[in-house]
Amino acid sequence: MAEKIVIIGGGAGGASTAARLRRLDETAEIIILERGEAISYATCGLPYYIGGVIEEREELFVQTPTAMKERFQIDVRVRHEALQIIRERKEVVIRDHGEGRTYTENYDKLVLSPGAYPVVPNIPGTDLKNVFALRSITDNDRIKDYITNHPIRSAVVAGGGFIGVEIAENLTRLNLEVTLVEMTDQVLSNLDYEMAAFIHHELRAKGVTLLLNTGVAAITEEDNRLNVALSTGQYLPTDIVILAVGIRPNVKLAADADLKLGVTGAILVNDRLQTSDPSIYAVGDAVQIRDLVSGRDNWLPLAGPANRQGRILADILSGRAERYNGAQRTAIAKIFDLTAASTGLNEKTLKKWGIPYLSCITHSNSHAGYYPGASPLSIKLLFAPEDGKLLGAQVVGYEGADKRIDVLAAALRFEKTVFDLAELELAYAPPFSSAKDPVNMAGYVAGNILNGDMAVITWDRLLEQPQDNAVILDVREPDEFRLGAIPGAVNIPLDQLRKRLDELPREREIVTYCYVGLRSYIAARILMQRGWKVKNLSGGYKTLSAVMKDRALQAAKPTHAETVGV
Ligand code: FAD
Repeated sequence: MAEKIVIIGGGAGGASTAARLRRLDETAEIIILERGEAISYATCGLPYYIGGVIEEREELFVQTPTAMKERFQIDVRVRHEALQIIRERKEVVIRDHGEGRTYTENYDKLVLSPGAYPVVPNIPGTDLKNVFALRSITDNDRIKDYITNHPIRSAVVAGGGFIGVEIAENLTRLNLEVTLVEMTDQVLSNLDYEMAAFIHHELRAKGVTLLLNTGVAAITEEDNRLNVALSTGQYLPTDIVILAVGIRPNVKLAADADLKLGVTGAILVNDRLQTSDPSIYAVGDAVQIRDLVSGRDNWLPLAGPANRQGRILADILSGRAERYNGAQRTAIAKIFDLTAASTGLNEKTLKKWGIPYLSCITHSNSHAGYYPGASPLSIKLLFAPEDGKLLGAQVVGYEGADKRIDVLAAALRFEKTVFDLAELELAYAPPFSSAKDPVNMAGYVAGNILNGDMAVITWDRLLEQPQDNAVILDVREPDEFRLGAIPGAVNIPLDQLRKRLDELPREREIVTYCYVGLRSYIAARILMQRGWKVKNLSGGYKTLSAVMKDRALQAAKPTHAETVGV
């Protein structure tokens, strides 16, 4: 007999489960319950609709209930909210908001894909009419409506995660004066701080006032204007506030039905995406999954994993032997002209989890330097000290960051090493790349570290553990040195090094650096072969100075808040 599958949630996970299930099984009865007005809309596109990049609201709707019914014979019930799961009777209690009635629906298999909900901080003023969170199309419409129909000039965005920075960019596009307030010392927590420093500079350069290490303490309203009290004691007058301070898995239905939750607080599922009740499955932002790099339980709320889980679950529900192995948190964001992307674990997480690692930072050109339009591209690799297995990667750049992260994500997925990155034969012609692609270059540098061809020192070690007995050797040209250098550094340009070796004391360690780390690597090789102990500054002065400038700006009082501070 045909099975009856009830799916709660018509977003990425629920809709993809339903569509594939129908492709595999013409006989199943499939019902989607969606409490909102729409199914399968482009949540990830919402910030761009608010900013006017996506002009027509209709473009956000990937599927409509009617089209889903017609093409897939799926019974899509919008404005139908699942209120309760009665497991013993295999029933769901449903509120039909359209008709104002409550009814029950039985199931053979139940799929939960209720997503996540935005965290609303426990501070006064979050219920004011010009304070918004952005999760759903309804939130989106409220924000768009308010912005369109009120003469607003400024906005405060609380939270520097993906949604916060995307909203900050899109509100800036609308010529609003935007302040981004973030509790920690960096935006985009998937990146390590030194990579995020490039994003901070881009945000500031594009006119966003960035308040790091700052929280929103309270919001008050007077005459339609808001006053945002900050944890620093300052106040920001503004017209609207967007709260983007994080999300939590939506587990209420599951918890009320006594389904097991995992250590992360998300719904516990096995590798068949089955909850602690064998008739109930769960996918998407609401579930706990395995982190592929560490094997640990984790919560990785992203659209790619939700869609893949949905597809795999459809296979499982139709009797196939599929399993879901986990996710590696590949993510990407556009920050004005810059792209920031990552895959796998970052250094902060590796440290926290006590996983041994080595790292390197390389700055290459996005394509051949002699072909017009090349721009800098920074790659940070994290890899296992014993065999070079890739543990994580971060890419920040203006052009081509997306394709580099995808190459790195594929390598990480298939458990490749940094030596494999050096081996990759990637597409090259001058407008697109260099004969040694930035990914190859990152692999070469990491390989050099592992082979012992070059020892490195990272920017944080250099800043935090002064190399008292070492000579800091800057091998850039004197003009570059004059524009800014590490305090106490000696300048011997690379091309003069062989002739001026007697200026370097034999008994002292040498820390070499240049702008990106390439000339200083050559210098390191010259010195190492003559018996010096040398470390090369990973990521060069470019990384170190980005960090030092960012820290100085963080320490200085931000202009906008300062003018209104009390
Ligand atoms: P959702 O797509 O959120 O769907 C859950 C659905 O369940 C919702 O429609 C909800 O109304 C419904 N529901 C909840 N409870 C009930 C109930 N009791 N009864 C009936 N229906 C219910 N991810 C990326 O990878 N890249 C991006 O660029 C990106 N950008 C984003 C931008 C924004 C503004 C937001 C909010 C998210 C973004 N995401 C992005 C995250 C991505 O949208 C989610 O990871 C993905 O949608 C998760 O799919 P899901 O099915 O678990 O949840």
